This record gives sequence, C-alpha cells and structure tokens, in this order.
Amino acid sequence: MVTLADWMRGCGLARLDAQVLVESVQSWSRATQAAHPERELDARALERLDTLASRLRSGEPMAYVLGQREFYGLALEVTPDVLIPRPDTELLVELALRHLDALPEAHVPTVLDMGTGSGAVAIAIAHARPKARIWALDASGPALAVARRNAQRLLDPHREGGALRFQQTDWWDGLRLPSAFAGFDCIISNPPYIAANDPHLPALRHEPPLALTGRHPNADGLSDLRRIVAQADCHLSDEGCLLLEHGYDQAAAVRNLLTAHGFREVFSARDLGGIERVSGGLCPRRQIDQSPPKIG
Ligand code: GLN
Repeated sequence: MVTLADWMRGCGLARLDAQVLVESVQSWSRATQAAHPERELDARALERLDTLASRLRSGEPMAYVLGQREFYGLALEVTPDVLIPRPDTELLVELALRHLDALPEAHVPTVLDMGTGSGAVAIAIAHARPKARIWALDASGPALAVARRNAQRLLDPHREGGALRFQQTDWWDGLRLPSAFAGFDCIISNPPYIAANDPHLPALRHEPPLALTGRHPNADGLSDLRRIVAQADCHLSDEGCLLLEHGYDQAAAVRNLLTAHGFREVFSARDLGGIERVSGGLCPRRQIDQSPPKIG
C-alpha cells in the first residue's frame, strides 16, 4: 500500500505543488494531508496523481494541469486554448466597474470585452453587475467554447435582465451590434501585447501564441493595441471609456496612442506589483459641426 507520505516523497514535485494535486484528486485539504500522512492512496488515485505530476514536471502550468484558475473570486475552466488569467488583469475589471458605477443608476451599462479568451474579464463584470449588457469577442472558436462554458457555469441565467453574448470576430471586423446601438459605456481588452522577440516567450510556451503575440507578431508588441484603439472611438458612447491592459514597458506608448487618437483624460494605472499595467481614456470629444450656417 502506498501512503500519502510515500507518494509525496517520491513524486519529484515541490511540496506545495504535490499538496495542490492531492487536494484536487482526493479532496483532502492541505491541513488534513499534514495531519494524516499515513492515509492510503488507492490505485486509481495513484494513477491520476502520477499523470498530473508528470505533466507538472514537464513544465506545464498548474492551471492547465488542474484545468482551472481562480480569477476575481470565480473558478474558471482553463484549457491550452486560452490564456491563463493573471491576477494583474483584475485591475482591468476594477477600473471598468468603477467607470460603470459612475453612470446614472437607471442606465443599463453596456460593455465590450475584446479578446475575451476564457471569458475571465467579461464574466467577472457580468457577475459583479448582473444588469449589464456585455459583448465578448475572440478570434478563436475554441477559446469562445471555453468562455461559453464558463459563463454557463458561473452566471445566473436569470440575473436582473443582463446579458452576455459571445461573437467570433477579428477585432472589429465581423462585429455585429443591434441597429440602433448607442455606443458602449466601456470597452476593455487584454489583447496580445508581447513583442515577437520578447525573452519571456519561451517560459510561456504552453499558452496560445494567438493570445500572447497575436496573429502578426511584431517588434513592439503593439499591433493589436493599435487596431483596437483605431476604431474604438466610433463604438463608444460620448462618455464611454476605453481600458487596455499592456506590457510592463508599454504604458507611455499606449498613452501616446490614445492621445494621438483624441482620447480625453488619458491615464495609466498600476497593478499589485506597482507596474503600470492598464491605460485608458474617455471617448474623444464629439466633433462640433463646423459647417457654415445655412443661409435663407
Ligand atoms: N500578461 C501576460 C504575460 O505577460 C501576457 C498577456 C497578454 O499578452 N495579454 O505573461
């Protein structure tokens, strides 16, 4: 018979990783594991634990091995078709919620999440603001399948009339909106922003390149951010806000991009590590009609 202590000794993993695997396979809390190292593991549990341990040893991220990652208090399903949600991205959710909270109470907030991946940001907002009408886009069909499953599992289908719709688009290309749509109160995105030659890329090899460097990897990593900013103004309401996650060294470039497109009150906000991680701004002021007054 193999005991928990035997398996932990022989599995070749750091103690915490081993405990997390045992917790997921046997539902024994880490406190229970510490108190009862003599517990026996049956053949099925052992086989499962050995499979998961070998995936971890080969460098696969824990989130893919478990098929799950927590984001904004929600346990999201993740597969290798989607980026693993990062705690830094919770800043994007917080800034979006703050902007929505400043709207008149009777107003039904509308939100667009571009490049939704697992659905993390869109679902977190839908969960926190059940009245909101949210559109979530992605270029990847398999990613959208994951996002749809997450929404189905995590959101109350009868929540205060709010809605979350998913569409497969190439950023703005292919986006379908209701005909009399007045513009979004908030457009948010955590797009691919890693430069083609970024030295961190090998460490991210298990995650989808489409979510990291995008379809057209380039030297500064900003090509998708440029596409988003280029057409955001015509999809925002007059006081609508655009919020973009970006890399640790891209804040100034993204602020310049927003300013060059006429966005107002352009700012950057820092993540928990103190890094400028999200930049945004308000819809460019509507052009005042400059045409000469009609005479007669
Ligand atoms: N934040 C991720 C990382 O640096 C990348 C996510 C992205 O490109 N949107 O690992």
